[in-house]
Amino acid sequence: MKFAPGLPTAFSDETITSWLYRVFMKSRVVLEDPSLLLADPQRSWVGVNAIAEDLDFNFGSTFIKKALLSLSLDANLAKCFFDLRGIVPVSPSRRTLFCQYCVREDVASGQMPGWRKQWCARDAVMCNCHNVDLSQLLSNPTFQKSWDAFAQTAQPTIVSDIWLRADLQRLRMILMRRIQRWKGFLSVKDARLFGHLYELFLSAPTYNHDAGVAHYFYGRRPARRSCQIITLQDAIFYGVELSDVQARFASQVLAAYVLGGIQEQELSVFRHRCLTYGVKHPEIEEIIPMIRFSCATVDDYCYLHRVLGRFSRKKGSKVDQLFLRFEKTVGVRIFNSSLRFGC
Ligand SMILES: [Zn+2]
Repeated sequence: MKFAPGLPTAFSDETITSWLYRVFMKSRVVLEDPSLLLADPQRSWVGVNAIAEDLDFNFGSTFIKKALLSLSLDANLAKCFFDLRGIVPVSPSRRTLFCQYCVREDVASGQMPGWRKQWCARDAVMCNCHNVDLSQLLSNPTFQKSWDAFAQTAQPTIVSDIWLRADLQRLRMILMRRIQRWKGFLSVKDARLFGHLYELFLSAPTYNHDAGVAHYFYGRRPARRSCQIITLQDAIFYGVELSDVQARFASQVLAAYVLGGIQEQELSVFRHRCLTYGVKHPEIEEIIPMIRFSCATVDDYCYLHRVLGRFSRKKGSKVDQLFLRFEKTVGVRIFNSSLRFGC
């Protein structure tokens, strides 16, 4: 279905701001109010952080309304076309991951590059089309970020990161596909638990605890403290936003491993290849013991208990081993709490 006859066709999965930018850059499209392209999203305070208005997915925003009006387009149709479709996005200012092959192919096909919705997701790691790691935009994300992304890929770079070796990337792609397939069969309750564990393992460092385990999984040492993030709740929310694709990958692997989505043997293959190239990877039997939750206070502990809810905990399973140790070493010993996670 052609959404807007006479205007550039939106790429599959493109965000509305990206498409509008490409439309307005066409010389034949006369923009009544050119200041639209300079639209500065309104900001509001959420806790100690200022969050920008979401111009990509808030179809009630003045920007989108004005832009669609100037093109005489139907707002409801635009919403159907550019809606999130189940994606949970990061904050607008954190939408900085992109696929370098997608933007290059856009330009090779004679069009301006477009920004994809899948890159905005909180669990985005790889491009679904090209099965490669997403790249980090090095400039501030603006309306023209897809063009900035293309310009960045056109710079001469020396790929020295061992993590990006083709065979390691292929193994990561196999693991990610395996996890995605497995997630497709999860119950709503288990899918929610997977999402919570993914976020927990990626939690950001605060003034009184370190970053989540996923940041350390491949032997890296992230910055210890973040003064902007104070509570465990914020650490969990912003951890995903502040994480690179390597930590996001580690966190999904960890969450899937804990919940039985991937097995020891599959992880052993990846571990062996990591060690071959000097990338650190813990022994398989060390994985559960190395996972810790960043609870600095009894309130944090209770918050975690409330957030995780009543998930299924089969005796002897990995998830049982994980929480048994957590309850014993943190709950009972430090907080003198008898709270039991799951049921
Ligand atoms: Zn791609």
